[in-house]
Parts: sequence; C-alpha cells; structure tokens
Amino acid sequence: MPGGFLCYNYGMDLSKNVEELKGIGPKTAEILKKAGIKTLRDFFYNLPRDYENFAMPSSISQIQPGKVVIKGLISDLKSRRARKRNLSITEGVVRDNTGAVRVVWFNQSYRLRQFAPDREYYFTGVYELKNGRFQLTTPSAALASDVDFSGGFSPIYVAHGGLKSNDFKRLMNNSRDKFAEIPDLLPSAKKGERREALFDAHFPESAASVKKSREYLAYEELFELILAASLNRRENEKLKANPVAFKVEKIREFVGALPFKLTNAQRRAAWDIFQDMEKCTPMNRLLQGDVGSGKTMVAALAAYEAILAGGQVALLAPTAILASQHYENIGPLLGKFGVKTALLTGSTKRKPALKKQIESGEINLVIGTHALLTDDTEFSNLNLVVIDEQHRFGVEQRQKLVLKSPSGLAPHFLAMTATPIPRSLQLTVFGDLDVSILDELPAGRQPVKTQIITEIDAKEKLYPAMRQILQLKPDAKKHGEKARGQQIYWICKAIDETNSLLSNAGGSGSGETAKVGFSGGSEITSVKKRTRRLQEVFPEYKIEFLHGKMKPAEKDAVMERFSSGEIDILVSTTVVEVGVDVPNATLMVIENAESYGLAQLHQLRGRVGRGASAAYCYLLTSGDLQPSRRLKELEKSADGFYLAEVDLKMRGPGEIYGSLQHGALDLRIASLSDTKLIAKARKDAKDFLNSGEDMLQYKELMVGISKYQQLTTLN
Ligand code: ADP
Ligand code: MG
Repeated sequence: MPGGFLCYNYGMDLSKNVEELKGIGPKTAEILKKAGIKTLRDFFYNLPRDYENFAMPSSISQIQPGKVVIKGLISDLKSRRARKRNLSITEGVVRDNTGAVRVVWFNQSYRLRQFAPDREYYFTGVYELKNGRFQLTTPSAALASDVDFSGGFSPIYVAHGGLKSNDFKRLMNNSRDKFAEIPDLLPSAKKGERREALFDAHFPESAASVKKSREYLAYEELFELILAASLNRRENEKLKANPVAFKVEKIREFVGALPFKLTNAQRRAAWDIFQDMEKCTPMNRLLQGDVGSGKTMVAALAAYEAILAGGQVALLAPTAILASQHYENIGPLLGKFGVKTALLTGSTKRKPALKKQIESGEINLVIGTHALLTDDTEFSNLNLVVIDEQHRFGVEQRQKLVLKSPSGLAPHFLAMTATPIPRSLQLTVFGDLDVSILDELPAGRQPVKTQIITEIDAKEKLYPAMRQILQLKPDAKKHGEKARGQQIYWICKAIDETNSLLSNAGGSGSGETAKVGFSGGSEITSVKKRTRRLQEVFPEYKIEFLHGKMKPAEKDAVMERFSSGEIDILVSTTVVEVGVDVPNATLMVIENAESYGLAQLHQLRGRVGRGASAAYCYLLTSGDLQPSRRLKELEKSADGFYLAEVDLKMRGPGEIYGSLQHGALDLRIASLSDTKLIAKARKDAKDFLNSGEDMLQYKELMVGISKYQQLTTLN
C-alpha cells in the first residue's frame, strides 16, 4: 500500500454481531435478526425510510386541512374497538398555547403508553374532516427535545417487531461515536467518505446533507452491483461447456411439425440461443417475454438442439403444476422426434427407477421443479438447463450444476421470465446475462380488456359479466374439453378466515368509516369465504379454491380439474400467477387489486387471454379512494415493458423484484432511473476491473459484492 503504515481497511470489523453495540442485548438482537439486521454492517446500513422536517411547526389555531406539523402536549388518551371490525382506535388531544386538536391512530394502541403528559412532542400527519369532525389522522410523533437537538430534521425508520422508529433512533444514538470506526469501501472514494455518508444519513443536519449522503450511498451500491455482475460474467467465461452444433435440417423439420407458425420473435430468440450453444463457454441467457409470448416453445427448440447433439436437458419450473403442464405440452411434440421425456416432481411415483434412467442417459429431457437442482438426481450428460419463471441464477448455483455433470463441463443455461426487465436494470443487476426478448404475441391474441370496478358495483356490473362468460361457448379444444362454458379465475389474498389481514391500502383514516361493502369492510376476504359467497351467487356452477398452503398433490388435482373444464370458477390466491395455461379461462377478477404491484397484476392478468376468445380482467377495489395511478395504468396499457418502467419509477426495484421476501436484490437507495449515476458507476467499475489492482485488498468491497454474486432467484 502506498503510505506504508496506512492500512486501507482500518477501523472495526463490520461483520461482527450487532450485540457488540451499546444498548443491544440478546433480546433486541433477536428482533433485529428477524428484521435481517445481524451484523454491524446491517445495522449501519439500516437507513431511514424517510425524514421528517419538524423545523417549522404551525400553531394549532392556524392549521389548514392537509399535511401539518404541530408541537404540543398530549392528553386524554384512550383506546376503543371499532364496531364490527377488528380495529382499535386510539385517540387523544394535542394542545399548544393557541388551541387543541384531536389526534387519531388505528391499530396503534401502544400510543396509549408512548407519551409523558408533561413533555412536548411534535406531531405530523394529515389534518382532515372525518365524520363531521376535524382530526389529525395517524400522525407520527417525536419527543420535542430529541428533535430540537437534531436541528428539526429527523429520520424515520421502518418499525420491526416491536421496535418502533424511535427505538431505532435511540439505538443509533447510542452508537453515535462508533461511526468514526467504519472502514472505507470504494477504491476511488475519499478517505472517510463512507462513514460521513452513513453518519449524515442517520444524523442529518439538513436536507442538503441527506442528499449528499444518499448520493454517495447510491453510487456505492451501484458500483458494487455492476462490479458483481461483471465478475459473474468473468466467472462464467472461465467455465467450459460442450459446444452444440446447429442442425438446421432437423430443426426445420421440428418447426414444420408444430401446430402453429413461430412468431418472428421466437425465431430470433431461438437463433440467439443456437449461436450461444455453439460456443465452448456456457450460454448464460435470459429469455424475456410477456405472458403468452410463447417462451416454452423456444425452450423446446433449445432442448431439441441440445438433445440432437447427444446431451441431456433439465427444464425446471417453479411449481409442480407448471412442470406437469410443460410435460404435457412439449413432451408429445418432442416425442414425435424420438426424444424421451420424464416428469420428476414431488408426487412422481417410481422415483428411484426414473432417477436411474436419468443417470444412465436413457431419458433425454427431465422436467421438474427447481428442487431438481439440489436433490440427488444425477445426469449422464447434462448439457442444457432451462429455468422457467426465474430471472437469474447465482454463480454458486451454476457451479452446482457443473457438479451434476460428470464430464466437469458446465451446462448451457437459459432463464425465462415474463417480468420485463427495464433497460436500466439490464445494465446493472443483469449485466452478466445476455438477453433475448419476445416482443410479439402469437397471431390472433387480443389484449385483455381491463376494467377497474368497485365492490359496490359488483352486483350490477360484475356478476352479469361473469354469467355471460360462463355461458359462452368453450374456447380451446385441448384444454377445457369438459367445459360447459368459458371459465373464470377469481384472485384473492388470504387463505382462511382466521388469518385474513386488515387491509391498510386505504391509507390515512380509511379504516374508520364503516363500509357497507360487498366484502364486509376492507377485510381481505379469504378464498374459502369467497368460494362460499360465489357459490350463493352462482349456485348452478362448480366453484373450487386453490391456495399455496395446499399439498402439492391437492393443488395439482384442483388445477387439473380446472384445466379440463370441470371447474367453472377457480377462486385462488396468487399461486396461479406463474405460467399455468388454461386457454378456456377468459375472465379474471382480482379482488383487493390495490394491494398488488403493477408487475404482479399484469402477470396475473396474463393468465387469461391465452386463447382466441376475447378476455377480460376486473380489478376490484374497495372504492374508498380514487383508483390509484397504478390501476389506471393497467387499465390503459397491455404493454408489460411500459408497465414495468412505470412500476420501477413508482415503487423502486426492491418491491418489484421481490427483495422483501428474499433479501436478494435490495437496492437501498440507488434509483435505477438515475442513468447518469449508473453510467458513471459502470465506467468506474470497468476501469477498476481493467486496472489490474488486487481486489482482495478492498475487504469491505468484497463483502459488498459477494452479496450480489450469490444473488439467485428474484421472483
Ligand atoms: P409464456 O411465454 O407465457 O410461457 P407459453 O409458452 O405458455 O407462454 O405459450 C402460451 C400459449 O401459446 C401456449 O398454449 C402455446 O402453445 C402457444 N403458442 C406458443 N407459440 C405460439 C405461436 N407461435 N403461435 C400460436 N400459439 C403459440
Ligand atoms: Mg411460461
């Protein structure tokens, strides 16, 4: 190192447990752990969700409807339960020397114990007219002495299991002097830049210092992400694969035997794939195409090609239902050309015998769930792995695949997804993948006619529309052969009455107004209850439900009955979201539509409109509020790409790509619409890679990128 005595990684070891910190005992550590905050690094990077500017409180006598900040004493705190609803209402009165105002919280009975009667607090929330009275609805609160101390600019943290924002503030405050020991990370950054940025994020002096802090942290994040993707690409290029020669005549013959003409997009994608597979380095390609664009057929072409060259292929789907559907669809098509296909899922019988046939190479194509990667199935010559409905695949997983192949060669790899990936993400998170896009639907498809409808209107508008569909002539021949009419999906959230959630999609105050709604309030109605209610409305039709907690065999059975047309209306949770293909289902109702993301709604909607008949999607909302922009966009546009861009702008990538569940892609701050910053980080990462510097000396950077390198499933 230049400078000799100055080691780059001075400072504390951020991988240590949070219990190292003052004020964090085993109990708090346990809660933090559940929230994903295990190490000191996690702790310092648990950034405020937002900031509250308490700097300029209004006198209570002066406040106007809208967002307000006031400062005063609170008294008369009491809680009660709302009639009929599982909701507690806590209220109190805040006074300053000009007046008083009622404050109201929902399901926050801890507020009863939060306040000291003789101390001043800041409150910020929405001042509004509710049920004929003015009130301040669900305000956040902060002890005035704490806030004044920090210049009126105060961080807000996401609450976790009993730890409220204020508790996080206190914990941060206890560790204030530890920030000085945070080691640097970026090769290019000024000394101490990282700890300054983190300190300013947690103890901001002004909006300007927050902005500066976030700029640094966003850059750091993008740099890590892009570097990780580049390193992944390098790793992949080091692997060796069996090249597959392109057999044009055979492929032509296969395509000629299909019951339809390939779309041009399918041809282009297949061509990309064939070219990749001709190389000695493994293909690492993402096939992206809107729902119904025909990705499976492209996978079948790739599989056939690999099998012609003497290799074996594994096609993996996220669910057993989907795996068996693939098996039924492409098994016979390939079977005509001598390909032996097997289905291997949890419920498969004679598994050991089947696995032997796979190991001996007798079976050419194995279709199963992702579990195939981790179980004891051995291949004789695995040369192509196709993963359906997944975005990507970590370095580690890829290495596992190499182990499945006795040759020591890496199989070619194709991931397929219907979630469109905006260009900015392609450059960063997915920088190590090549991408093919199916931007064309097979001929004759019509966009799904989408309409927002409030629950109150269901009786008059929705049920008649459903009845009409149920009476239409069945659409497809193969699917739905037993169907009396066309079929319907009804999507809802929770599983049974006991764990149905309280919807807070309405935001401020919507909880209090008693609704005479069709779903009995804003409660998310369970699939079971919904099934019963629909049965009352449509007594002559067969209605069944499906949800994620059912046993795989049960799920398969229900799906099978729906697919064959025995079931008219399938009430389901989002388990039907990925992939299942029932062309005779032409109408979908999505209950509580506000509570889903745009990408997910679009994906769900893609379950209908898979045949030649017109298809409909009804987005059912509680009707309390104006439909959100999200829903309106969905009503207007059928373009998954456009919708993904909109969603990305509105919600950030974390939610779209499921970081909440998997902790995988968790972009804390960087905005992927910040193309300038992305361009800079890309250039810097490239320069750094080319500089030949020893990366291992940047210990913190290595930790940072390993997180992204292991990144696997994003949905
Ligand atoms: P996705 O891209 O959503 O996975 P699928 O591969 O399931 O779409 O295809 C949807 C449906 O379209 C299937 O029934 C499939 O057989 C059919 N299909 C695929 N390609 C074509 C084509 N070129 N022309 C007509 N139908 C097609
Ligand atoms: Mg599919």
